Amino acid sequence: MVSVTLQGLYCQAGNFHIDPWRPVERALVTHAHGDHARSGSKRYLGARAGRGLLQRRLGADAVIDTLEYGETLKVGDTTVSFHPAGHVLGSAQIRVEHRGEVWIISGDYKRTPDPTCAPFEVVRCHTFITEATFGLPIYRWDDTGLVAQDILRWWDANREAGRSAVLFCYALGKAQRLLAELGKLTDRPAYVHGAVNGLVTAYREAGIAMLPTQLVSETEKGTSFAGALVLAPPSAAGSTWMRRFGEAETGFASGWMRVRGNRRRRGYDRGFVLSDHADWPDLLRTVADTQAEKVLVTHGYTDPLSHYLRERGVDASPLATPFEGEAED
Ligand SMILES: [Zn+2]
Ligand SMILES: [Zn+2]
Repeated sequence: MVSVTLQGLYCQAGNFHIDPWRPVERALVTHAHGDHARSGSKRYLGARAGRGLLQRRLGADAVIDTLEYGETLKVGDTTVSFHPAGHVLGSAQIRVEHRGEVWIISGDYKRTPDPTCAPFEVVRCHTFITEATFGLPIYRWDDTGLVAQDILRWWDANREAGRSAVLFCYALGKAQRLLAELGKLTDRPAYVHGAVNGLVTAYREAGIAMLPTQLVSETEKGTSFAGALVLAPPSAAGSTWMRRFGEAETGFASGWMRVRGNRRRRGYDRGFVLSDHADWPDLLRTVADTQAEKVLVTHGYTDPLSHYLRERGVDASPLATPFEGEAED
């Protein structure tokens, strides 16, 4: 029902693409991350909760139709609907039904509770396309509340030492989730990089509660950042932008921080293990929950995950796509 073409995942019965990597007539999009929502297509269809983010990503001129989660729409000979993926605000699994056969294209997803988006919904299907960003048994996440407490302790220690704490994180999703989790523990404002700020605004517009924030570039010249927490995208690490913070410790909040060598190699002082993707146990649990007869694995560790599933009797195989394994998450 869904195959890979030059433009992207294509559903012939409905004549539409899903998260196409080249411009097409009609694109159904799972969420606003760059490797899934690409500009240039004639028309887009996404989940309503992600509308603001999609418009930001695709440009003011992009034509974007939306559906509420669970709302169905006839597209060609198919019926499509969007279901929460728990990944970032407005992220969705796309359900496609054609003559009684059901496919779920999950995009990126996680099962861990996240105050910034609707929780993942289990949807039964015949074929499940899963991601495998963290599809290795070493990737297991700790309780998010404990990670947030760890970050707050790190911020406090730096405050007492008169240093700033610069926390690098994925600008869309992770930064807002951190601000929401920290907002449960403190009401001290945090500073944000420009790349994070616009997305924080989009989340606020969607009614998500987060720590108060201040844009770094709007502070007066000579402002001291001693004791401040600053959220910035990894691309800002090592740039001249960092100079204004004086004595600073750096941290990185990412699933990749599960592996010690990654923190050292990237030169961060601290690593906090926090991801917006499913960890290994949750990938397996989700595949089982969908009761899918066939599983297609994309995004990241496709071979190890499909191999493991096949050994346990699941009809699984890798599906080659240019979706990124999300190096920042
Ligand atoms: Zn994503
Ligand atoms: Zn992705």
